[in-house]
Amino acid sequence: MRSGRNISGQLLPYTYEGSAPTKRESFYGPLMVPTAIRSSMKNSETPSINIDRLRANMLKLGQIGRHEGGGLCRLGFTNEDMEARRWLMETIDSAGGIARLDGAGNVIGRWFDGENAPVVLGSHIDSVMGGGLFDGTLGVLAGVECARAVAESAFVPKRPLEIVAFADEEGRFGGMFGVQAFIGQITPDWLERAVDPEGVRLCEAMAAQGLEPMAALSAARRPEDIHAFLELHIEQGPVLEAENRRIGVVEGISGIFKWMVHLRGRANHAGTSPMHLRSDAFMGLADFAHEIPRILDEEGSEGSRLTVGKVELLPGNPHTVPGEVVFSLVGRDIDPAVLQRLADACQRVLSAIARKKGLHFEYSQLSWLEPQRCHPEVIESFLQAARNLGEDPLLMPSGAGHDTQFMAKLTRAGMIFVPSVAGISHAPDELTHWTDVELGAQVLLRALVDWIK
Ligand SMILES: [Zn+2]
Repeated sequence: MRSGRNISGQLLPYTYEGSAPTKRESFYGPLMVPTAIRSSMKNSETPSINIDRLRANMLKLGQIGRHEGGGLCRLGFTNEDMEARRWLMETIDSAGGIARLDGAGNVIGRWFDGENAPVVLGSHIDSVMGGGLFDGTLGVLAGVECARAVAESAFVPKRPLEIVAFADEEGRFGGMFGVQAFIGQITPDWLERAVDPEGVRLCEAMAAQGLEPMAALSAARRPEDIHAFLELHIEQGPVLEAENRRIGVVEGISGIFKWMVHLRGRANHAGTSPMHLRSDAFMGLADFAHEIPRILDEEGSEGSRLTVGKVELLPGNPHTVPGEVVFSLVGRDIDPAVLQRLADACQRVLSAIARKKGLHFEYSQLSWLEPQRCHPEVIESFLQAARNLGEDPLLMPSGAGHDTQFMAKLTRAGMIFVPSVAGISHAPDELTHWTDVELGAQVLLRALVDWIK
């Protein structure tokens, strides 16, 4: 694999030569882009990404909270997470920015002075347990590299730049704490009540790191304080790879509803109960599962998803007809009307099945998160930037939640994806080719320049 530049310093389209890296050459393996072909971009009018520097930073940050063979563990507000934040602040300072930690534990690096509202780039550097090297980290460190590239070039930005690493994006304490504090959605009551699955309170976790929990309220920014927000993230899914594209421009982030559904029949002896006289709750679930494709066909869009992810049969005995089934049902779509139609259809179909099978149907809605569209101008700037680099970007929804979905409530916000090898993420095998990392950062930089010129 190789990239090259023409004499005016523009990045030429990439071509693949050879196969994808083997597992041994994963992200700690050799760099696949020869350094020698990169010319120095210093003092050029067109800022350009230094992939060697970006890669070195990714690998350094990847050492913090790294478990041998088990991936990363940097849960929000743990020692590892805070060590990563301190490292990031030093990295920002040594890259010519000014780093600070806001009241919510968000790391914010600022480059360039000026009265104008800044353009913000960022993502998160906390991880799930056993997470990979690229999730979140890429958007933050590519942001730092973009700021550095601009600072080193002769290009004079009309706006300051901020790079943000939002706190607890992975939701140890529920929601996306850092970005929600940033957009002013956190309340004192929420701060008091937030706990992790182990029962540790957010207030305690923050205090243990020397942070004052109520200071999170001071992290809120006003819409007029931010000009735009751009995020680069790995796809964490298989679509780009399957479509043979290297850049995905996200049109919107899926809304999600989450239900717990109860179907109740009658538990009874599995030997003495004739099949036609049973009131078998599992059979109700099985019928519903078969209806899911039809519901999606008739009411859904191409991006719709319906998932039964957790099932409990009661009493849970091999020799007893299950009298009750409790299962989760999660629906997703980026169109609010489609999401509503999916929910209505699920309710209708479950009622009909319950009637037919003599079951009692009930559900509780645990959450309903509205879909979030990315801003058309940000989408357009990403599409243009990718096309100018010779790419054919794919306009696509994001099925996973990201900081962008909250930033879009505050400002013009949008995001791009680069491919995840085999679609794997939230796992130690998470991998994005360094050539794709470079391209993604380059698209981010081109779009950024568009917003600050
Ligand atoms: Zn992420």
